[in-house]
Amino acid sequence: MNHTPAAETVLSLRDVSRTYGKPTNPVHALQAVSMDCTVGSWTAVMGPSGSGKSTLLNCAAGLDSPTSGQVLLAGRDLSGLSDNQLTELRRTTIGFIFQGFNLVQALTAEQNVALPLALAGGRDRQAARQALTDLGLGDRARHRPRELSGGQQQRVAIARAVVTRPAVLFADEPTGALDSAAAATVLELIRHLVDERGQTVLMVTHDPSAAARADRVVFMRDGQVVNERAGGDAGAIAAELAAMEAVA
Ligand code: ADP
Ligand code: MG
Repeated sequence: MNHTPAAETVLSLRDVSRTYGKPTNPVHALQAVSMDCTVGSWTAVMGPSGSGKSTLLNCAAGLDSPTSGQVLLAGRDLSGLSDNQLTELRRTTIGFIFQGFNLVQALTAEQNVALPLALAGGRDRQAARQALTDLGLGDRARHRPRELSGGQQQRVAIARAVVTRPAVLFADEPTGALDSAAAATVLELIRHLVDERGQTVLMVTHDPSAAARADRVVFMRDGQVVNERAGGDAGAIAAELAAMEAVA
C-alpha cells in the first residue's frame, strides 16, 4: 500500500477557454485547458508562437479573464473575486516575471524591488535589500535599470517578483532576452525558490535547456495542451518541440 500523501494542488485550471476578437472572427487563444500545479513544483510551458502560452499564464495569474472555465489559485476561484480581492490576491500570493523586465526606469533597483511591498502597505527596505542580496545584487541597489546589464535587470525583476514570497511565481520567457550565462543564473535561482522555499513556478519558455530544468514540461498547440513529459532531458524536449513545430 502506498501511504505517500498526494501533493497539494495550489493552482488548478479547469476547462479554461479564452477567445479574443469579434464574434464574427474569433481567435480561440485557449480551448478548454485543464492543468494542476502542486506546491513546490516547477512546470515549463512550450509550444509554437501563437499557441496560447502567454494567454494561459495571464489567465492563471488573474491578469486576464477566461471566457469560460475556472482558475483556482490557493483555494480561491478567481472568477468569484472582486477587483479589489483579485488585486489583493495578486499582491500576496502571485509573483510575475515579464520577458521585458518591466522595471520602472526612474527608480533604483532597490526602489523597484520595494514596489510590491509598498503596494501591500509596507515600507520594508530591509526586505527589498535582502532580496537583491539573495540574487547577488546587493552592491547594485542604488543603480537604475539602464546602469545594469540585461542579466542584472532580469535578476532585479525576479527580486521584485519574489520579495513578497508569493506562493506561485509566473514567468513568461524569463531567459528569453539573456545570454546563456545570465540565463543559467536565473534558472539556478528559480530552482532554489522551488527546492528551498517550496514556491510553485509556471514558466513559459522557448528554450529546451531552460524547460529541462523544470520538473514537468507541458506542450501547447492551437490553444490546447497536447502533451506533457518530465523535465531533465533537453535533447528529448527539443526533439518534441521541433516535431510539433513541423506540423504547426
Ligand atoms: P504565445 O504566447 O504562445 O505566442 P499568445 O497566448 O500570445 O501565444 O496568443 C495566442 C493567440 O491569441 C494568438 O493567435 C494571438 O494572436 C491571440 N491573442 C493574444 N492576445 C490577444 C489579444 N489581446 N487580442 C487578440 N488576440 C490575441
Ligand atoms: Mg507569448
